This record gives sequence, C-alpha cells and structure tokens, in this order.
Amino acid sequence: MAKKSQMFSRVLVANRGEIALRIIRACRELGIETVAVFSEADRGAPYLRLADRAICIGAGPPSESYLNIPRIISAAEISNADAIHPGYGFLAENAHFAEVCRDCRIEFIGPTPEAMSKLGDKVSCKRTAKANKVPVFPGSEGAVTEEDEAADIAKKIGYPVIIKASAGGGGRGMRVAHNEVTLRAGIKQAQQEAQAAFGNGAVFIEKFLERARHVEVQCLGDKYGEAVYLYERDCSVQRRHQKLIEEAPGPGIDPRKREDVCKAAARLIKAAGYHGAATVEFLMDDKQNFYMLEVNTRVQVEHPVTELITGIDIVKTMIRVAAGEEMPFKQRDVQIKGHAIECRINAEDPERNFAPSAGLITRWEPPGGPGVRLDTHVVSGYRVPTNYDSMICKLLVHADDRKQAIRRMDRALREFVVEPIKTTIGLHRDLMNDAAFNQGGVDIHYLERLLKK
Ligand code: ADP
Repeated sequence: MAKKSQMFSRVLVANRGEIALRIIRACRELGIETVAVFSEADRGAPYLRLADRAICIGAGPPSESYLNIPRIISAAEISNADAIHPGYGFLAENAHFAEVCRDCRIEFIGPTPEAMSKLGDKVSCKRTAKANKVPVFPGSEGAVTEEDEAADIAKKIGYPVIIKASAGGGGRGMRVAHNEVTLRAGIKQAQQEAQAAFGNGAVFIEKFLERARHVEVQCLGDKYGEAVYLYERDCSVQRRHQKLIEEAPGPGIDPRKREDVCKAAARLIKAAGYHGAATVEFLMDDKQNFYMLEVNTRVQVEHPVTELITGIDIVKTMIRVAAGEEMPFKQRDVQIKGHAIECRINAEDPERNFAPSAGLITRWEPPGGPGVRLDTHVVSGYRVPTNYDSMICKLLVHADDRKQAIRRMDRALREFVVEPIKTTIGLHRDLMNDAAFNQGGVDIHYLERLLKK
C-alpha cells in the first residue's frame, strides 16, 4: 500500500473535561486547530477557551449532547473539521459512531469500526486472542445459551466461575457462581440482564480468579500493520471495579513475564488489523500467569503513567497515525525509565460511602515541583457539574524508582488544597502510607477489604 499521510487541519474533540483539554493541548502542539463541543452543563468551563472554537451541542444529560451522534456530526460539518477525537467514555467505543464518521468522510481518531467490533465484543475478542496464542481464562468457547452446557463447562474448569455479558462494560453484567445451583440460576438472570442493559443477551463463562492483580498493556498500531507495546500498568487499587491508582512499571513483575505479556498484547492488536491506541487488560495470578480480560479500543484515563515512563506522547501518536503517518518510533526505541504513579482524584466523600460531592470550588491550590504532572480542567471558581463522572483531576508523579515515586506522591498530595467540596485526596494519602501498598503487588480487592476495616 502506498503510504499517504496528510496532517489534519482541524480536529473536533467529542468529549469534555480533562481529556478534552489533553486532546486540545496535543493538537495545539501539532499545529492543528481544535473545535470543542460542550453541553449546557459545561457552558463557560475555562478549558473551552483554549480551543479555537467551541460549539454548544445540547443540554446537560449525555444523551442530549456528548452521546448525541447527529449533533456531534453537525458540529463537525459546520466547523469543517476533518477528524474527530472521541477521548474515552461517551462515544469512544461505539463502532456505529466510527462508521458514521467514515460515511461522512471525517476521520475517526481510533480504529476502524471493524477492528473495534472484533476486539470490543468480549466473545469475539477472546476468540481472536486464543487464535493468536494470547493467554485467556479457561471457559466456554463462545456464548453459552443452555444451563446444562454451562454446568458441564464449569465442572470441567472447576468452581468458582464468572458469568459475563459479551457486550458488558464498566464492571456491569457479571456474576460469580461458586456451585452448580448458583450457576444454573445465574445464567438465565445474566442473559436477561445483559439483554436489558446492552441490547445483547449473549453471556459466556470463565474461571474466576480469587486473588488477582490487574495488569494491562498499552499498545499502539499504525495503518500499515505495525503494532508496538509501551509496556504495562498495574491498576489493582480499585473500588467497585473502578481504578483509583495506576502505576508503571508493574511492581515486582519478572522481566521475562513482562516481555511475554507485552508481546502477546501487541500480537493481538496486529492480528486485528488495529490502528490507534489500545489497551489489552489482563488479570495476573500470584505466580505471574496472565489471562486476558478484554481490550479497550481507545485512549485510557491512565495513559499518562505510560507517557511518563516512556517519554512517548500517546495522544499525539494517535493523531499522527490516524492521519496516515507511520509509527514514529520502533519497538526497540521504547524504554522504561523510572517509575510513575497516578492518583485519580474524585469529587466524592470517602466518609459517606463515596457519595458525589459536586459544587463550587472556591479554593484550588494544586501541587507542583519536580516530577509532578497534573491533568485537569479545574481552576479556582470552577463548579463541578452533577451530570458527569466525579473525577476532577489526575495527579501524577515520576521518579527514579517506586519508593521515591510514592514519597513524591505523598508530598504532592500534602500540598494539594481543594475547598469546600469533598475529595479523595485524603484516601490517597492514606494509601501512600499503607504498608501493603508500599510493599507492592496488592490485589484488586485489597482496597475494599481495607475500607471495611
Ligand atoms: P468490564 O468490561 O465490565 O470492565 P472486565 O472483563 O474488564 O469487565 O472485568 C472487570 C473486573 O471484573 C475485573 O477487573 C475483575 O475485577 C473482575 N473480573 C473479571 N473477570 C474475572 C475473572 N475471570 N476472575 C476474577 N475476576 C474477574
């Protein structure tokens, strides 16, 4: 194929908040104009003035704005944008949206709808993974429809097993079965729930791992079949399947195991003919065996952790490969330098079971100094809207090693003042001073056990 690339002149950012700002910044550095879209709930948000143009696309509820395909496409057409960056969440993993963009001759900054569907659907993703020798959990070959079939498979792989929706996401549509009775009851319910929630009733089962770490591999692909990995992130500090802290590299991971899992992830991306940023998520057991969970076909919240240890700008690379450039670096150029940690700071009250704490921020004094990066759209006087998720910023640090990174994060969190809303800053400080976290390698249920104490 002849390699043709032409950089975009104007990119529409189909998202809000910190990731919209992150994309606007990347475009500015690449010399590309930006069009921001916003809902009524985000009107007047300070980051909007950093775009070349900002267009209101509707009311606060996502269905009337950030999820509304016709309005976003109209905004792109009115403003003559030649590409759309979807960020994460909202329409980022919607293959139909990617298809509409293609039909309208607007470049979707991400994979083709075909590659997105192939890896975005869990059953199809697992099948592709297996065919490419990417380790997956033992379980059903595809979707299971009959109770008897499920019971047979579970007997073979052993309990506990987990029932998952093929179209599931965001930690929803899963249930664990410890014996045949709960499995049989669970299958029917799971199918009905999946149909209601995702419009697709297909479910499958796999082995349930009790004590696991969440380790994911950042990959990037170009349009000419090149696929590279940017190593792994450990995101085991979670509450209700939501990540709170991410770090890279994964503490204590054996270099050979690291190489195996990273190569497997890149192989999968390549096999799917994928271009753009992708994250292959795995669970890792205590012997450092990896089992693929799913692929996220977009830029992730925690991508800056990888940017800090590799020095590679993931958002800019996504834009460049979408414009048809070849991957701007080779696998051998990707080296891990030091250690990075990210704390997601949410407007929530940990004292009141993490209830959302939206409202006006009158005092905002962010940390700074060596090795600190803050990705946020918040300033003093910003009002956190109630319509969207509660993350107000991502605080990151980079240092020579993990121990120093933890000390640096603790120092930065101590400097951070946010008033009067409630945030998770205090909880993050507790974690930076927690013995098990300091030792490294806590499992995905560690935080929930800690919070119960
Ligand atoms: P989603 O798309 O909803 O995020 P995932 O497949 O990524 O679903 O799983 C989300 C979480 O559910 C995982 O991070 C893990 O905590 C738990 N989980 C999923 N599959 C398994 C499994 N086989 N064993 C143990 N825990 C699992």
